[in-house]
Amino acid sequence: MEIFLHNTLSGKKELFKPLKKGHVGMYHCGPTVYWDQQLGNMRAMVEADLIRRTFMLDGYDVNYVRNYTDVGHLTGDNQGDADTGEDRMEKAARREHAAPEKIADKYIANFERDIALLNILPATHSPRATEHIADMIDMVKTLIDKGYAYVTPLAVYFDVTKFKDYTKLSGQKLDDLESGEGHGSIASDPNKKHPQDFALWFLKTGVHTNALQTWPSPWGEGFPGWHIECSAMSKHFLGPTLDIHMGGVEHVSIHHTNEIAQSEAANGVTFVDYWLHNEHLVVDNKRMGKSEGNALVVPDVVAKGFDPLALRYFFLQAHYRSKQNFTWQALEASQTALKKMRKAVVGAADGGKIDKSYQEGFLTAVHDDFNFPAGLAVAWEVIKDPKLSDMDKRATLLYFDKVFGLELGKKEELAIPADVQKLLDARAAARIGKDFKRSDELRDEISRLGYEVKDSPNGQIIAKK
Ligand SMILES: [Zn+2]
Repeated sequence: MEIFLHNTLSGKKELFKPLKKGHVGMYHCGPTVYWDQQLGNMRAMVEADLIRRTFMLDGYDVNYVRNYTDVGHLTGDNQGDADTGEDRMEKAARREHAAPEKIADKYIANFERDIALLNILPATHSPRATEHIADMIDMVKTLIDKGYAYVTPLAVYFDVTKFKDYTKLSGQKLDDLESGEGHGSIASDPNKKHPQDFALWFLKTGVHTNALQTWPSPWGEGFPGWHIECSAMSKHFLGPTLDIHMGGVEHVSIHHTNEIAQSEAANGVTFVDYWLHNEHLVVDNKRMGKSEGNALVVPDVVAKGFDPLALRYFFLQAHYRSKQNFTWQALEASQTALKKMRKAVVGAADGGKIDKSYQEGFLTAVHDDFNFPAGLAVAWEVIKDPKLSDMDKRATLLYFDKVFGLELGKKEELAIPADVQKLLDARAAARIGKDFKRSDELRDEISRLGYEVKDSPNGQIIAKK
């Protein structure tokens, strides 16, 4: 079946045609690992996972690359002022009194924990920017050789006026960008030719004299700019042209615009065939973020007793190109719905058939620019269909779950009260000590509390009576 996707570059829905039959090369801008990733970022990760799983369901071999930015992402970057900000990793290093490498280790581990909790498949490759400095230096050299970049006493810059269609992704006019607030103030480096010129390599001098992570380069000791990292890493793993590049909508006008300029200028070929951009998660219709003081992380959700996959279910309810509003009530409703959906699957026996007509409805939805909310609606039609057998419902829902990733076949874990658990522990000890009389007495006590215990080769199995 054909997949149609909305390409930011054309502003239109397009038929997906892979570069290589049966393969998808997909690059996703990963997190800057200086802090725990808030739920908005995790939503983006879930959306990419759902998209990847849709291609996998169609039999594609997906090479999914998601990087870790562990150097060079400055605090000014999101305002486009990449020349004057502080490196986020170094800011975190000062905050936590640890080396930037240790900060990266810590937050990569936390991120991978959250990825696993949300049942997001591990990336095919998840490179750290600091592992690819040589690739970045090579690309900067090429850009200088080809006349797209120049060196000042402070940095190496990309000359935006040399690249035709610099603003083709955002559709903005270069002249309009000049006056933008905080936008690459020329004052930060008097030798910059154009305010929009952005740094490919920062030298360990000026405001960056005390930079903690630097490497030698043909232009002097320094560190890479954030944008060149993605251009270099995507080329390393996926070649000069990618099928799909994904990222947050906030990256359209600067980060991705700069990636295109660097990659196409250096490689002389199209950088990306399809650009996908996800919208933000909002809280009470305000953006979720640390500066807004409303940033939530996955452990906050777990601490409130939620199944983390209830969050995944919640994300499934909005299209990736739409804003989604987070509330605890909505998460509660998602958890209830997830439980109900699992009940329909777990309560039925194996051996059913996937219902062809619902399968078609589901595929039509997810192939139409990844309309997962519509796919979810089909799942509810299945559950409510009185004509469909429980076994066929189970088979059909498990098929949908290859994309949903909600672990619908997972049995609800029984919350065992503390007093029952105490008796269970005592009974396990009695059985190890071969005190079967005591073991039987404890079984009766457990039974009086409303639970039935059985013995298996793997130990005691407890069920509610
Ligand atoms: Zn990127």
